[in-house]
Amino acid sequence: MSNINTGNSSTAPGATSPHMLATLPYAEDALEPIITAKTLSFHYGKHHKGYVDNLGKLIAGTEYANLPLEKIITSTAGKPEKTAIFNNAAQTWNHTFYWNSIKPNGGGEPPAELKQKIEAAFGSVDACKKELASAAVSQFGSGWAWLVIEGGVLKVVKTANADIPMTMGFTPILTIDVWEHAYYLDYQNRRVDYVNAVLDKLINWEFALQNAS
Ligand code: MN
Repeated sequence: MSNINTGNSSTAPGATSPHMLATLPYAEDALEPIITAKTLSFHYGKHHKGYVDNLGKLIAGTEYANLPLEKIITSTAGKPEKTAIFNNAAQTWNHTFYWNSIKPNGGGEPPAELKQKIEAAFGSVDACKKELASAAVSQFGSGWAWLVIEGGVLKVVKTANADIPMTMGFTPILTIDVWEHAYYLDYQNRRVDYVNAVLDKLINWEFALQNAS
């Protein structure tokens, strides 16, 4: 699906099992001023790390201990008695995907091949960004806004809490974290300002193209 380090690749340094924290693909201050080092230090170093650590404790000695992260997610989704494992596994995956969905000096025009797919689905890049922003802002409470592919066509979806498109038959292309911990230190209640700044200045269209190809 993509070549990012989702925490279970033997080629990624320090990431040989589902309970290893994937390396942040840039420095903690690299996204300033859009996302500050303070936010990233908590979001990556406390929240993301917390999901990874919790997952490790929850799966130790269980049938899930040696499974790849994506297999843990798909095999616990929709099982009420496995909710804690699912939530921590999905949040581990979602955060690594989010770090790769944004980058320093992102935004701007998507690569031509992706732009064609976006225009085919939404009419224009601006219309796609507006739909992503609308999904991100209208998600009630914690969750995620996603660009996904369903049946070869790009579309926007939103998910609540830890929910993840791979369990819904969608291929994720990029995501924006809209949990309050993603923006509250920098933007307080202004989720819309955070979302628009991410779309304009940080979104990683090259990563999206890798996932859409
Ligand atoms: Mn988060």
